[in-house]
Amino acid sequence: LKVTNNAEVIGQVIVLRNITPFHELNEAKTNFIATVSHELKTPISSIKMSARLLGDLRVGALNNEQQELIRSITDDSDRLLKITGELLNLSQVETGKIQLKLQPASPADIVEQAIQAVSLQAQQKHINIQSKLADNLPTIQADVEKTSWVLINFLTNAIKYSPEDSGVEVSACCTKNTVEFMVKDQGRGIDEKYLPRIFDRYFKVPGTHERNGTGLGLSISKEFIEAQGGRIWVHSRLGEGSQFGFTFSAT
Ligand code: ADP
Repeated sequence: LKVTNNAEVIGQVIVLRNITPFHELNEAKTNFIATVSHELKTPISSIKMSARLLGDLRVGALNNEQQELIRSITDDSDRLLKITGELLNLSQVETGKIQLKLQPASPADIVEQAIQAVSLQAQQKHINIQSKLADNLPTIQADVEKTSWVLINFLTNAIKYSPEDSGVEVSACCTKNTVEFMVKDQGRGIDEKYLPRIFDRYFKVPGTHERNGTGLGLSISKEFIEAQGGRIWVHSRLGEGSQFGFTFSAT
């Protein structure tokens, strides 16, 4: 900082601040978030499982109200699991510690795994998920867990932002050098003015949120795909539906 009097430099003030405590605190916060979200995951999964068992056991006939309550417990558990998963992944992203477990992977297996994970949510909204897999898909070098997580995130959004009884398509196809995964819905779509910010952390399209969300899923998805050398993209038109996808180089 220069202090001048009549354009003359008469002194200089240099401020030095030690930001180590700030970094330490930030790291402690990130670790705390990771630990808490990890610890929350198991009991929430078990609540969800118990509610589902209760529904399946049919201890006497369940009336509509009881069925509705069970549905509400599973729905809310799903939402909590999504948030804890996002927080856990966010802590990896924030510390720059995305640890990839790259291995040869089958695109078809990744798609199947993702569809399986969201099948109950889709059923509840009578949404039909159709998978389209190209013949002779090559093996890719990928972190299966993180790649499936991204696809599950796309599918969860597609289900969440689509009307009941609509269709969602998930596909994997390839060109000579790339494999492309895509989730296409017939939902509300996104205004093009928001598309450039859609992968930003905490961004949610204004005014469209009747249900809570963190605005974290797509930003983490972007980090996961780019960490693997892939490219993430979106095409959407308001009122006409959305397509979210990512592309990997074929090995
Ligand atoms: P959230 O947890 O809020 O869904 P995301 O990062 O997954 O966070 O998505 C960010 C925002 O992008 C959402 O809040 C929603 O407004 C919009 N969005 C994402 N996917 C879709 C989709 N398939 N159709 C319409 N809007 C979407």
